[in-house]
Amino acid sequence: MTDTKTNIEGIYEQVVGRNPGEDEFHQTVREVLNSLEPVLDRHHEFVEHKVIERLCEPDRQIMFRVPWQDDEGEIHVNRGFRVEFSNALGPYKGGLRFHPSVYLGTVKFLGFEQIFKNSLLGLGIGGGKGGADFDPKGKSDSEVMRFCQSYMTELYRHIGENIDIPAGDTGVGPREIGYMFGQYKRITNRYETGTFTGKEVNWGGAPVRFEATGYGCAYFMREMLQTLDESFEGKTCVVSGSGNVAIYAIEKIQEFGGKVVACSDSGGVIHDEEGLDLETIKRIKQVERGRISEYAEAHDRAQFEEDGNIWTVPCDAALPCATQNELDEDDARKLIENGCIAIGEGANMPCTPEAVQAFLEAGVAFGPGKAANAGGVAVSALEMQQNAGRESWSFEYTDQQLKEIMQKIHADCRDAAEEYGTPGNYLNGANIAGFLMVARALIAQGLI
Ligand code: GLU
Repeated sequence: MTDTKTNIEGIYEQVVGRNPGEDEFHQTVREVLNSLEPVLDRHHEFVEHKVIERLCEPDRQIMFRVPWQDDEGEIHVNRGFRVEFSNALGPYKGGLRFHPSVYLGTVKFLGFEQIFKNSLLGLGIGGGKGGADFDPKGKSDSEVMRFCQSYMTELYRHIGENIDIPAGDTGVGPREIGYMFGQYKRITNRYETGTFTGKEVNWGGAPVRFEATGYGCAYFMREMLQTLDESFEGKTCVVSGSGNVAIYAIEKIQEFGGKVVACSDSGGVIHDEEGLDLETIKRIKQVERGRISEYAEAHDRAQFEEDGNIWTVPCDAALPCATQNELDEDDARKLIENGCIAIGEGANMPCTPEAVQAFLEAGVAFGPGKAANAGGVAVSALEMQQNAGRESWSFEYTDQQLKEIMQKIHADCRDAAEEYGTPGNYLNGANIAGFLMVARALIAQGLI
């Protein structure tokens, strides 16, 4: 019998060999595998049933051409993806990302993360992810609409409220979901609101869905801080990004008495010692779809640093809410040196493995994405419940549910970390708690 370490290395080698060039996918698999050693030692049935090997191979990977015409009549061809990773716990569920950098490896890394994130919710949803290498930046509404219609003309045949339920991610918000839902409805002749989440509230969307990832991240961090006998009150915070995750994380932190002094976009960093004015950020980003540099025009005291590094700004808590691998080991060391005590990953895998290691070794409370940013998909699950019951819930009710879900996720991660020998390590806790549910379901459902 091979020992657990050798077994895990073998699985990893196989994943790398079978998925060449998909670095982000390898990275997320590595991270999960590293946490699972004590689990495999204790539960040999998972090894016998080759549960991890099965989880690392998606149920289905769909790739397709998305042709569309811009406003000048020029034809463009993009590539669309949907990776249906695991439906052991429920229909495939996960967002769509539209960004020029998207390739199969991105979608697989996000889809793999999503399996465990969704499992942590305990609300019966599987894992999947999709997207396209389309860049919505600078496109007109009608260009975005034509792209979404073309994308859905292929994707519609693969999705459904009991099959696979897309939502938003980077570059996909209520506007894009609306265009895709419209095309889906037109092709299928079904008003099936349950096939998409992240819809607008007046036609089936859940209140708080737009705010959910950011709020959820702040709720998760509040729990983490509480275990350290700390709170957001009076704390200086830094939040990277300025999309909807960042914006609503800032909103909640401010409500909890924290001061957020910096945020960013791909152009640079805004630093405002007195605390950021969220209304300005919302206007620039949500209404005008502009650049964060414009913030400095509205507030004299703020400084904009083009291509700046947000992690050099001293803070007590940091929330990377922009994109994968945006915070590396040097950044982590700088944050630690500056006295940062807590990290909450609002984005998916924003910290490199070396950065995570540095935080854990320094005793910084580290909230990994699959737990800390699960608020978005949590409210998606609530949206599905609401749609299934043809109900319409209030903001307060939905927000309360979100809060309770984030508290439960925090407690489950904390308990799993403790039970498997690494108390305080939320990364191990999240991977283990998420994995156990899926693994048990996979075994119960036979060799599929
Ligand atoms: N894209 C979000 C995430 O990374 C939400 C997915 C969903 O709501 O299905 O979890």
